[in-house]
Amino acid sequence: MNEINIPDDHPRADSLRLREKIVRGYRSGAVALAGLIAYGRGEAFDYLIGERTTASALHAIDVSAAILLRAKRPVISVNGNVAALVPDEVVQLSAAVGAAIEINLFYRSEKREIAIEKILRRAGATRILGIGGNSHATIPELHSERRRVDPEGILAADVVLVPLEDGDRTEALVKMGKKVVAIDLNPLSRTSRLATVTIVDNIVRAFPRLIDRVNKMKTLDAKILDSMITEYDNSKTLGDSIRLIESYLTQQVDASLYKGK
Ligand code: ATP
Ligand code: MG
Repeated sequence: MNEINIPDDHPRADSLRLREKIVRGYRSGAVALAGLIAYGRGEAFDYLIGERTTASALHAIDVSAAILLRAKRPVISVNGNVAALVPDEVVQLSAAVGAAIEINLFYRSEKREIAIEKILRRAGATRILGIGGNSHATIPELHSERRRVDPEGILAADVVLVPLEDGDRTEALVKMGKKVVAIDLNPLSRTSRLATVTIVDNIVRAFPRLIDRVNKMKTLDAKILDSMITEYDNSKTLGDSIRLIESYLTQQVDASLYKGK
């Protein structure tokens, strides 16, 4: 059911449809109120990168695919916004790389857990970690509810994919020796700076691309994947993302619209 009728020819129809998904996620109890604000922050950065997957994000996606393919115990961490926007893709990626799916929430409540679980099951997930009393292990040094993790999932993982993560937890996961793959539209966030690999892109574009790359790179030799991983420099990728914002903005200023004729 659509809350509003978005005409196909509306110039920002795609963006409005995504908002609609987040609002629906909120109404279903999966998305937290603060999740709406986090989404808005992401949207603002999406405008600044030109609402496209940049060359630097494409490179980060390839390296992320390599890391996931080489992982022994990969886990995809899911929160309300992720469940609202890319539930099918989470399940597809999990199947493609043999990753566990774990619900991990900053604003944890049983109601929210159940709402997210329902969305993931509808998308085809059969095994979901982090629900009920299963998140009884804790990440050291963290004080938010996101410290609670499943001992069979994030706690034991060697690689954690964290779309829309909080900086504190990224830092804690890296300190625990895990490789962290973040998807975050804000190249300046703590998450972006602390993750092993940061894909600066909207999760709605990054997930399908990541699935595609994983499927294509599956047959590559382990040595090739390993060298992609060791040669990767995340601070360079983030620097490139920021420079791409700069050049995109310069192009906009150069466009006649802003020339003040
Ligand atoms: P940090 O804690 O890492 O410093 P933050 O406190 O600024 O970041 P949070 O609210 O913790 O932000 O996390 C939300 C992050 O998710 C934001 O950086 C936002 O840009 C990003 N984000 C929101 N929606 C999307 C989306 N659809 N795709 C990718 N990133 C998104
Ligand atoms: Mg934060």
